[in-house]
Amino acid sequence: MKPYDYLIVGSGLYGATFAHLALKQGKRCLVIDKRSHLGGNIYCEKIEGINVHKYGAHIFHTSNKQVWDFVNSIVEFNRYTNSPIANYKGKLYNLPFNMNTFYQMWGVTTPTEAVAKIEEQKAEVVAKMKAEDITAPRNLEEQALMLIGHDIYERLIKGYTEKQWGRKCTELPAFIINRLPVRMVFDNNYFNDKYQGIPIGGYNKLTEGLLAGIETKTNVDFFNDREYWENIAEKIVFTGKIDEYFDYCFGKLEYRTVRFEEEIHNMPNYQGNAVVNYTEREIPYTRIIEHKHFEMFGQEIYNCSKTVISKEFSTEWKDGMEPYYPVNNEKNNTLYARYKELAENKKNIIFGGRLAEYKYYDMAPIIEKVLNISPIDDFNPR
Ligand code: FAD
Repeated sequence: MKPYDYLIVGSGLYGATFAHLALKQGKRCLVIDKRSHLGGNIYCEKIEGINVHKYGAHIFHTSNKQVWDFVNSIVEFNRYTNSPIANYKGKLYNLPFNMNTFYQMWGVTTPTEAVAKIEEQKAEVVAKMKAEDITAPRNLEEQALMLIGHDIYERLIKGYTEKQWGRKCTELPAFIINRLPVRMVFDNNYFNDKYQGIPIGGYNKLTEGLLAGIETKTNVDFFNDREYWENIAEKIVFTGKIDEYFDYCFGKLEYRTVRFEEEIHNMPNYQGNAVVNYTEREIPYTRIIEHKHFEMFGQEIYNCSKTVISKEFSTEWKDGMEPYYPVNNEKNNTLYARYKELAENKKNIIFGGRLAEYKYYDMAPIIEKVLNISPIDDFNPR
């Protein structure tokens, strides 16, 4: 008999949730992670008393009550509501596009005026394209212009999108933007979900709670002693990169990544909001995150005399960088399908999570996926 029922490679939300549920069902689990800490991308580092989201700002949101109740059974969540602000050439606009944005953009004060203004802007674009004999949008720029008109596109979409993708909007395919939701109410809440928040005490509390009572090892890369790890447990849950698991035999999957520049400031409040997007092309970063606003409200902000900010730079991914966002174009999807076929033939190995499934997942859907595996022994991830 092997020492463990499950070896779980990766202590991110997928691995940690799986281990938590497996332990509840009496399974012997070992979780390994190649990083020096547990938690995967939701890990926070405490700096100046502030939880700094080391792998990018994470805001938990869901409409799934089962998922919400589950995470709150591990750690209570606070009332943080994501309401990002856009800074375009020093002028501030509320996001997502809502009555506050339209007031800031055009001075309109009623939904009727706002709808009329958007329709006027769209009509200008359609007329111009008709004159040029363009019947359907040929790229992201034309698509966005047709959906929302010139002002919002130029000030709030163009520069930000070009920085995110590292390419001009005229070189990006139209399908990237299917629709641009607008809200005819004064509501800056970014998400439409029923529930959102941040774990009280930070995300590490969630990881610690999920992994309580489970044996874990950090600084351990599965591939450094693959044979040993493959024989230590009856089954493996693999949440690392699927192409790496198969030795890149068909080639490498591509990602986009983000580089963070962290700064500590000797002031209690740098920008007055957790998230400020910089939407002009000339500023090289896409956003500034001020971490304390995720967990400190009102006077608490001033009880902590310093603040930590992160500037985010969207970057082309190269080997050795963090693989953040899969690039799900035809080439990569075809490549992934070949790896997936190999994975399906592997007995006793579950490939799960954002890297093993080569798919962008928010946190809640990751948890939902794992919660739907019950009992764990019958888990069939395909
Ligand atoms: P990960 O968290 O990446 O965990 C995988 C783990 O496996 C890592 O710890 C890694 O070190 C380990 N590992 C990999 N290979 C090996 C190996 N060979 N040996 C040992 N260990 C290995 N979701 C939201 O809901 N809201 C947000 O606001 C949000 N913001 C995000 C911002 C950014 C920049 C990114 C990239 C993602 C964001 N997400 C957000 C998504 C969220 O991060 C994911 O849903 C979640 O992290 C997925 O968990 P996971 O376990 O699949 O992957």
